[in-house]
Amino acid sequence: MISLKNILLPTDLSEPSRHATKYAIEFARQFDATLHLLYVIEEPPFYAPLGGYFPTHEEWEAFADSGLQEWIVEDDAAGLTIIREKVYGHPVPKIVEYAADHEIDMIVIGTHGRSAIPHLLLGSKAENIIRHSPCPVFTVRPKQHEFVMP
Ligand code: ADP
Repeated sequence: MISLKNILLPTDLSEPSRHATKYAIEFARQFDATLHLLYVIEEPPFYAPLGGYFPTHEEWEAFADSGLQEWIVEDDAAGLTIIREKVYGHPVPKIVEYAADHEIDMIVIGTHGRSAIPHLLLGSKAENIIRHSPCPVFTVRPKQHEFVMP
């Protein structure tokens, strides 16, 4: 029997990453699992989410907090236990470390993220999360056969 108690949904708050969300929500609902939503603020910063300049520390925090809050809207979150976390550092080691520290049973990620290069099968972080994860990783490619009903 498969028992999932803790599911990790790391997101870089980008559109390609959004596709994984409904799968993570559905798995959490069906297995009555806690859903951990994790955003790693890249340090050193790799992109400027607010336009052409790199935000201050406070602006990053505000971007992360509102992004995490809005990522799963209230209607979709009904009945779920959701933990929203932001941490600083390199995404891959931070995601792997979080999974190990929180008894995560499955990680759900998008195959692509913010710097999506469509012809690549996997983004570099996706590949390295799969390589180093302490648990199974469920990957979701944009525009593939879907089994979660809208
Ligand atoms: P790309 O190279 O196309 O940007 P990535 O490998 O960076 O793709 O991203 C793949 C997936 O990894 C994302 O959909 C997301 O689930 C996860 N991810 C990437 N960066 C972060 C981050 N900073 N915080 C949390 N999750 C992330």
